[in-house]
Amino acid sequence: MPSKPRIVVALGGNALGNTLPEQMQAVKTTARIIVDLAASGLELILVHGNGPQVGIINNAMTDYANHIKSTSLTPLSVCVAMSQAYIGYDLQNSIHEEFLTRGIEPPPIATMLTQTRVDADDPAFQAPTKPIGTFMTQEEAREAAGERGWVVHEDAGRGFRRVVASPQPQEIIELNAIRAMVEDGSLVICCGGGGIPVIQQGCHLSGAVAVLDKDLAASLLADSLAADILLILTTVEKASLHYRQPDEQFLDQLTVSEAEIYAKAGHFAPGSMLPKIQAACSFVRNHPERRAIITLLDKAADALAGRTGTLIKEG
Ligand code: ADP
Ligand code: MG
Repeated sequence: MPSKPRIVVALGGNALGNTLPEQMQAVKTTARIIVDLAASGLELILVHGNGPQVGIINNAMTDYANHIKSTSLTPLSVCVAMSQAYIGYDLQNSIHEEFLTRGIEPPPIATMLTQTRVDADDPAFQAPTKPIGTFMTQEEAREAAGERGWVVHEDAGRGFRRVVASPQPQEIIELNAIRAMVEDGSLVICCGGGGIPVIQQGCHLSGAVAVLDKDLAASLLADSLAADILLILTTVEKASLHYRQPDEQFLDQLTVSEAEIYAKAGHFAPGSMLPKIQAACSFVRNHPERRAIITLLDKAADALAGRTGTLIKEG
C-alpha cells in the first residue's frame, strides 16, 4: 500500500477563537475539518497558534502575582507551555468525539508539549515586536517597565502593551518523539504557538522571553518530517496583492521567486501574511515535489483538491 501523503496543518486563530467559550465552540468546527481530511486518507500533524490564549494566561498569572506579593511572575515560556496543554486538550477531546460520532475508530490522538530552540543572538531579541497581554495606561506601562523590566510599546493608539521578541525557530527539540508517534499512526498536535522558546546553554535549555510564530515553526516541522504538503489554514481564502485595495488581486499560484518579489514590494503584512509566505517559501525552496497552500479553514479539502487557495511551489 502506498504511504499516505504527509501534511502539516497550521491552524490559525480562527480555528480556536479568542476566549475560553469561543474556543470550546470553534474546536468543534475545526475537528470536523480535521476528521474530513484524516478520513480522506491523509497523514496529519497539527500545529496551532496561541496568541489570545497565551495573552489570557500571561494576564491571569500577572494578576495573581500582583495580588499575592510573595509569588513570582510566571515566565512567558511557562505560559506558552500552559497554552499548548490547554489547547491540546480541547483539540484532542473534540477530534476524538468527531471520529466516534461518525462511527470511525479514532487513531491515537496526542499532544506533544514542544520546545523550539532559538538563537540567543537572534536580532529579534534586540527589537521585540509581538504585543501580548492587556492594554495599559502610560502610567501602568512605566511601572511595568520599571518593576518587571518589560519592554512596553504604544499599540496603534489603543494604549500601551508589553511587546516580546519573536525570534526565528531553529530546531524542534521533541522532533524524534513527534516522528515516532506520527509513524506509529497517531494524530499528533505539536509545536503549539510555535513551540516553547528555549535557548541552549550547555546541557540546559533555558526558557526564553519570546512568543514564536506558529507558521514558521510549522514550516520547520514540515521540513524536518519531510512532509509532502504544508497547509496553512487561516481567515482568507487566498493571499492577495494590493490587499483590501480596489485593485486587489487574489493569488492562485506563486513560485518562490515570485513570492519573494511580492514580499519585498510589501504586499504581505508583517506579523500576519508575511510569515505565512516565508513559511511556505522556506518549506518548498529547492524541493519541487513539495507544495504549500494558504487558504480558509473551511476550504481545506477544496484547496487540497486544487480548487482554491494560494498554492506556493518551487519554480
Ligand atoms: P492566523 O491566526 O491564521 O495566523 P493572521 O491574522 O496572523 O491569522 O493572518 C491572516 C491575515 O493576514 C488575514 O486575515 C489578513 O487580514 C492579513 N493579510 C495581510 N496581508 C495580506 C495579503 N496580502 N493577503 C491576504 N491576507 C493578508
Ligand atoms: Mg498569525
